[in-house]
Amino acid sequence: MAYITLKNINKIYPNGYHAVHDFNLEIEKGEFIVFVGPSGCGKSTTLRMIAGLEDISNGDFLINGNRANELGPREREVAMVFQSYALYPQMTVFDNIAFGLTLQGVDEEVIEEKVKKTAAILGLTDYLDRLPRALSGGQRQRVAIGRAIIRKVGIFLMDEPLSNLDAKQRVTMRSEIASIHRETGATTIYVTHDQTEAMTLADRIVVMKDGYVQQIGTPYELYFNPVNVFVAGFIGEPPMNFIRGKVSGGKMAFGKNTIDLTKKMGKKAADYEGKEIVFGFRPEAIDLFAEENAYKIDADVELTEMLGDNTNVYITSGEEKAILKVDPHDTPEIDEPITFCIPYESVYLFDAETEQRIM
Ligand code: ADP
Repeated sequence: MAYITLKNINKIYPNGYHAVHDFNLEIEKGEFIVFVGPSGCGKSTTLRMIAGLEDISNGDFLINGNRANELGPREREVAMVFQSYALYPQMTVFDNIAFGLTLQGVDEEVIEEKVKKTAAILGLTDYLDRLPRALSGGQRQRVAIGRAIIRKVGIFLMDEPLSNLDAKQRVTMRSEIASIHRETGATTIYVTHDQTEAMTLADRIVVMKDGYVQQIGTPYELYFNPVNVFVAGFIGEPPMNFIRGKVSGGKMAFGKNTIDLTKKMGKKAADYEGKEIVFGFRPEAIDLFAEENAYKIDADVELTEMLGDNTNVYITSGEEKAILKVDPHDTPEIDEPITFCIPYESVYLFDAETEQRIM
């Protein structure tokens, strides 16, 4: 197991493109870190710099406190699983898992023991004699993971390992990856664009956008305390609702509604007089029935989606649109008015100019 330090890591590609800006992170021994963000935000580039597959343009990269910028991939003791799992089609599962050890000239008996142990962790014991083409996508991905974890390395890197699987296999493999991590205890860095994967797997999540780290925190911290509009909108499904409006007399108006911002911000509302603000609330953080300490909102129901465990209600108020998540038994009628409440504590306010959260 290893701990990793990234200090002001930057990546400028030879064509001049600045893909990663001042990336700072301390990763503890055995921690499961997920890099998440939309395509092109620099997740893979950062992972590849950690793997030693891509030069670090500037900044310090340390493994167990020692500078590792110049080390090659092998010397870093990392194992990597990619989205395309590229197994050797003519080799059995056993030989695929054993491949790295065979290359190293490890004793056959040792290899046999390690392959069996690895296969047991991954539930592949009954498939060791099969060729990859006789396996499901999920099983093939497990072989690829087996090939990586059989070498006892300190750092385990995964780049979108589930993206080639169907939805059901992804859910199964997600929980398997979590239990493999518990079993091996390896420090793990996992890249995905999928916020659900990030939320379910991570000890801590790094949210990235356009090459910049937006926020680093536990799933709980990111969900309840997002620092800006981007993180608030990226974490959570359906995403947080945002209503933009100008502050006038400490209030913000949309549709038939006038929101008294002093209820949420107190005297601070005066600082935003005449300025634009973003009013955010999560679809699941509303209450249909009037209560104290909550904003009461009038809107119209445009569409409802009954999903079984809940109903998504698409509403409009003036120019604004939002989604509410309600109990299926409370599903409202389409084209009818609806009144709902947003507890003050469930409201997130952001400066519309900087997009930063107003604390
Ligand atoms: P992500 O993994 O978040 O999808 P990447 O790290 O792959 O993003 O890419 C980040 C940015 O760097 C993208 O805009 C991408 O086009 C650019 N990029 C990736 N590889 C190269 C390269 N070899 N040369 C120039 N730009 C690159």
